[in-house]
Amino acid sequence: MKIAIFSDIHANLEALEAVLADAEAQNCDSYICLGDVVGYNADPAACLEKVRGMGCPVVKGNHDQDCGHDTSLEMMNPVAAEALRWTREQLDPDQRTWLARLRMVRQVHDFTIVHSTLDQPNSWNYVTNKFDAMANFSYQVTPVCFYGHTHVPRVFLRDSRVQEIPAESITLEHGSKYFINTGSVGQPRDGDWRASYCIYNLDQHEVNFRRIEYDLKTAQKKILAAGLPESLAERIEHGR
Ligand code: ZN
Repeated sequence: MKIAIFSDIHANLEALEAVLADAEAQNCDSYICLGDVVGYNADPAACLEKVRGMGCPVVKGNHDQDCGHDTSLEMMNPVAAEALRWTREQLDPDQRTWLARLRMVRQVHDFTIVHSTLDQPNSWNYVTNKFDAMANFSYQVTPVCFYGHTHVPRVFLRDSRVQEIPAESITLEHGSKYFINTGSVGQPRDGDWRASYCIYNLDQHEVNFRRIEYDLKTAQKKILAAGLPESLAERIEHGR
């Protein structure tokens, strides 16, 4: 069984469609979404409907939370807040309820999925180093957990100690635990503009990282046409 696992679409329909086409070409037979379906880019409703229509497991991201509920956006950085206000207006009540009802953590087959981290999934902490990963591992009961939120592909491994290993294709060793960030579909932040996701081959115990080119220019044009902050169109070109 090959599962396409993707996160942080952030309303980038061009990137999502390119990832799904690649997953199909790679013979993936199921799909998992790690949250932040909406926010930042110009196609929140279309991306939401696409993911909802797939009927796959989805966990809630912080942008999903902020669009599903009328949370205060005052503490947020102004560009993200502006995009969230705009996004709320693009979604109908039914779509916002779907976001609000997403679960924070799920177990699928023999692994776990979460948007941010298992130790405090409601706090939306960022796991960017092995010390953050240690806190997660103490709550991780399955050998493998996939997460998103930082928009940077990463692999943390715990055997006798916790270490970070390169986010490349890996074969999972029995007895070790893995905390794996798939990177972001719609707004990568590792300096590579291409959409990022993972394919988990359950039979081969392999995780493959994929980077997919998509129609960046169209995605940028839509951001500007929607009146969203220009910086959002700029950053997806640089992967920042
Ligand atoms: Zn995100």
